[in-house]
Amino acid sequence: MPHLAEGIARFQREVFPVHAGLFAHLATAHRPGTLFIGCSDARVVPELITQTDPGELFVVRTAGNLVPAHAPGTDGVAAGVEYAVTVLGVRDIVVCGHSACGAMTALAEGHDLTGAPAVAAWLRHADASLARTAAAGRAGDVAALVRENVAAQLANLATHPSVARALAGGEVRLHGWVFHIADGTVEELPAVATATAPRAGAATGARAAA
Ligand SMILES: [Zn+2]
Repeated sequence: MPHLAEGIARFQREVFPVHAGLFAHLATAHRPGTLFIGCSDARVVPELITQTDPGELFVVRTAGNLVPAHAPGTDGVAAGVEYAVTVLGVRDIVVCGHSACGAMTALAEGHDLTGAPAVAAWLRHADASLARTAAAGRAGDVAALVRENVAAQLANLATHPSVARALAGGEVRLHGWVFHIADGTVEELPAVATATAPRAGAATGARAAA
């Protein structure tokens, strides 16, 4: 991977000097305004598509931009969410799905994942997304599943105590996006989950489904 080393050298030579003041400030300050939860997919680069600077986005990326619903015990995603909301005090949380998502394609098309058991187990966090898509008569439709999955993960997000508390206090807003790789557009989904997030019923449903 020589191109990575070349990239680092170019960053230090050409990019860092331009932003030296920003990095000097960031060396002792970390106050991002937004928690961005996206897919690990290499084509979905949060800072690129939002044109944000270092220090602006707190990013959590998982396969399928999945956020497990709150559960006893913890995991890396839960810790990242809690840290962003409780410690950093982000004001906005974005869950961003994308076109041609490998995770959503595998689910929508029922791919055989017996050779990737960890992936299969992880994708169970999208069971509610699959159920909602099927209920809407769109089973097998990858694009529909991508959208339903963003809504379902926003609902999962709202089951986390830190998020529930911030939503109840009006301290944070939830946003659902879909990034379309082919044309670079970002579609903002209707604020369904934002409106339903604080409701105990929605949270319980998401938890039961997960
Ligand atoms: Zn993806």
